[in-house]
Parts: sequence; C-alpha cells; structure tokens
Amino acid sequence: MGLTVAIVGSGPGGFYSAAALIKELPDCRVDILDRLPTPFGLIRAGVAPDHQSSKKIAKIFERTAQSEQVRFLGNVEVGRDISVAELRGLYDAVVLATGAPRDRRLGIPGEDLPGVYGSSEFVGWYNAHPDFNELAPNLETGSAVVIGAGNVALDVARLLAKTGQEVRATDMAHYAADAIDVSPIRDIYVYARRGPLQAAFTHKEVKEFGELDNAVTLVDAALLPADDADLEDKGRGSQTKNIGYLRDYARNKGDEKPVRIHMEFFAMPVEILGGDQVSAIRMERTRLDDNGRVVPTGETFELPCNIVVACIGTQSTPLDNVAYDEKAQRFLNEDGRIEDGLYVAGWAKRGPSGTIATNFPDGNQVADFVKALTPDSFKQGPAGLDQLLADRGVRVVTFEDWKRIEAAEEAGATHGAPRRKFTTIPEMIKTLG
Ligand SMILES: Cc1cc2nc3c(=O)[nH]c(=O)nc-3n(C[C@H](O)[C@H](O)[C@H](O)COP(=O)(O)OP(=O)(O)OC[C@H]3O[C@@H](n4cnc5c(N)ncnc54)[C@H](O)[C@@H]3O)c2cc1C
Repeated sequence: MGLTVAIVGSGPGGFYSAAALIKELPDCRVDILDRLPTPFGLIRAGVAPDHQSSKKIAKIFERTAQSEQVRFLGNVEVGRDISVAELRGLYDAVVLATGAPRDRRLGIPGEDLPGVYGSSEFVGWYNAHPDFNELAPNLETGSAVVIGAGNVALDVARLLAKTGQEVRATDMAHYAADAIDVSPIRDIYVYARRGPLQAAFTHKEVKEFGELDNAVTLVDAALLPADDADLEDKGRGSQTKNIGYLRDYARNKGDEKPVRIHMEFFAMPVEILGGDQVSAIRMERTRLDDNGRVVPTGETFELPCNIVVACIGTQSTPLDNVAYDEKAQRFLNEDGRIEDGLYVAGWAKRGPSGTIATNFPDGNQVADFVKALTPDSFKQGPAGLDQLLADRGVRVVTFEDWKRIEAAEEAGATHGAPRRKFTTIPEMIKTLG
C-alpha cells in the first residue's frame, strides 16, 4: 500500500492538499475529516450567500472527493471523536487544515454586551453554520455599526442593507432572510481605522454598493484623493477602481433610497455602551503618522446603535497539544511543516487572509513534504480509522451522504434560491434516514 494521509478540515486548505497529494502520489490514500456533515469549509459557511459564483470552485473539489484515492468523513471532530495523536498512529501523515474560526476580540470595554458580534458568528449565523443557528441577533433597530475595512465587513453591511426579496433569492439561512426582511435598519455605518487608500476591500465588492435595490452609499468626498496619479492597481486590489466607485458614492445625497450605508474612515471604536443591550458606540478619530501607522487623535464621538459587528479578523483554534503560536494565532510551522509527519495548510497555517485560491500553493507544499516519507506498514490507515470510529459510535457522513443532504437542500429551495440550507446537524442526519 502507498502512503496514507489524514487531512483535518475540508475547506480549500484541505481540498487543495488532497488534490496535490493524489496528483503527486498516485498510490496514496487520503481521508478528509470534517467536524461538520457538510464539506468545503468557508465556501459554504463564509462566502456571502449572494456571491454564488465564488462558490463554484466546490465543483472542482467535488471531483477530488470522488477520486478513488480520497474519502470524505464528515461529522467527525478531531479533538472530540479522535485525537491528533491517534490519527498520527494510524496514518503516515496528518495535515491540519482547520482554518481560523475564532473571532479576534476588539479589546475595548463593552464588547461582551448583547448585540456585539464577531464576524465568524454573525456570518456563520446568516450562512446557516450549525454552531451559530441560535445566535438570533436583534435586527429590530434603526442603525447598525460594522467595524472593519475588508471584504467581510462589506459583505455584512451589504447583506444588512438588502431587501427580503434580494436575500431570499440566495442560500442565506431562512431565519436570517426572515429577520433581514422585517428589519427596520435604516443606517449602516462601516468604520475603518485608516483611509480609503489603505482599505483592504476590493473593487468588485465596492462596486456592489452602487447596485442595491433599497440602499444608497455615502462617502465624505474630502477623504478621497483628487486625482489618480499615485493610485496603485494590483488586480482585485485596484485603488483606481475603488476610489472611482467611492467618488460616485460621494455624490449621493442620502435621500435617494430608504437605507443609507455610510462608509466612514479614520475612526476606531474605544467603548461600546449599553445595559441589557448595546445602545451606542464611542469612536475616536484617527490619523496616519509619517510611517502610515494609525494614531488616535483624542477626539471622540458617540453613535447610537443596537448592533455592532466586528469584522477585524479571526484566529485558529489550538488542537490537542499541537505546537501553537499564540502571537500569530495559528499553528507553529515552517512552510507548512509542524514536524515530520504533521503538516498544516490554509488559514491554520498562514492566518486569515487572502482568497480561496490563496490556499492553493499550500497543497503543493504539503505534497512535497509527504512525498519524502516512507510508508509504515504497521500503520492501519483508513481501515483502522473506520474501526475506531465505529467502536466510538460516530455517525460518519460520507461524500455520498453529503450529496443526499445537498439534494434535499436543493429540493427545498424557494424564491429562485439555489438551496434551502439545513441549519442543524440532527436535521442533516435525519435526511439520511
Ligand atoms: C466571511 C468570509 C467571506 C469570504 N468570502 C470569500 C470570497 O467571496 N471569495 C474568496 O475567494 N474567498 C473568500 N473568503 C476566504 C476563503 O473562504 C478562505 O481563504 C478559505 O476558506 C480558507 O480555507 P481553509 O481551508 O484554511 O479554512 P476553512 O474554509 O475555514 O475550512 C476549515 C474546515 O475545517 C473544519 N474543522 C475545523 N476544526 C476541525 C476539527 N477539530 N475537526 C474536524 N474538522 C475541523 C471546519 O469545519 C471547516 O470545514 C472569505 C472568508 C470569510 C471569512
């Protein structure tokens, strides 16, 4: 038998690794484990429900999952159902591709008040991630604040600004679409600590703010450069295009449509105020010093709001006793190697940045490491895993099972949506009979 590899996590990091392994090692066996019954990680649970075209890459991963060398074992949580050490005892190599699912904290007073959410939990809620189906954020409010200047912040603001009709045509969780449909939110503030030139968001996402049925976007024209001479164009990060769209929005008055999205720059949160619920946020004006660092100016102001979503990044979750870099908030590794036989890919390796495709090279690095190993005939591989999980009574969801769950979700779709997602694991398992 060839080398056996267990990959923990079925997001892009896991699937790019599996694809590279079966390409480079035609006789290896790869098992991809995921704690959820559903594969593809943030493609299902992070990418915005109104960005279906970005999810199409899952079709390519599906071909990998259906290779004879590969198995998907969903509903198996490493650290709960089986340990990393046990996996290492069974397989020649183990690859951690567990992503970065934990929200970073704002680190300011009031952030634990009801009504303050991190992006993982808020995005997970509207994308029907079973961990967050009971979040029930209160959208019965006039104004919402979104902190951050990346595409995740723009996703959250855009979806909050959409009409019920717009979100029902997506695969947003049905409870979230219902809440957005009746939400009285009229003002959505997106706050960035730096200026429009430093923002991490990309032009495709900025452009969408001019295409909303019910919402108009506002920007302070004084913050935008007068000419394009010093702007940088780097693909999706094109400053010229970003600034072009923002200049268009700066011409809006605010009364064109019922909902207003305020794109605000040079301000950071310093305190969240409230009692049983958020009632306001205190912000402080910032400026950039000569080195481009953010400097607080001491000038503060308060903004009434009942919901705050902090889109300021996420971090990996430590697993068993695998070496973890507390400062970088990801597994301690060198180019994807934790130690011989234990590797890491995707956001668990690099931290939470980049697109789906950014994870691609990680797979090749993993394959290069694994190629150098020699199969250990004493390791039981997939047969040993099956026995252990059966002994522990774990209900493994295979890829064929997932396809049945997917078919049931597609059959339940209404309003032109691609699917009606199940929102709990028991519902998914019940579908399988
Ligand atoms: C809100 C949001 C929107 C995004 N939108 C886009 C977009 O539109 N386009 C784009 O190109 N990129 C987008 N990205 C980036 C893209 O989603 C990431 O680059 C990519 O998903 C990272 O892949 P990953 O495999 O490292 O992690 P993930 O996709 O998070 O996958 C990790 C997997 O590991 C599983 N797992 C975790 N712990 C365990 C465990 N203990 N046992 C078993 N399984 C476990 C999880 O269930 C999950 O399936 C977005 C990211 C976010 C957060």
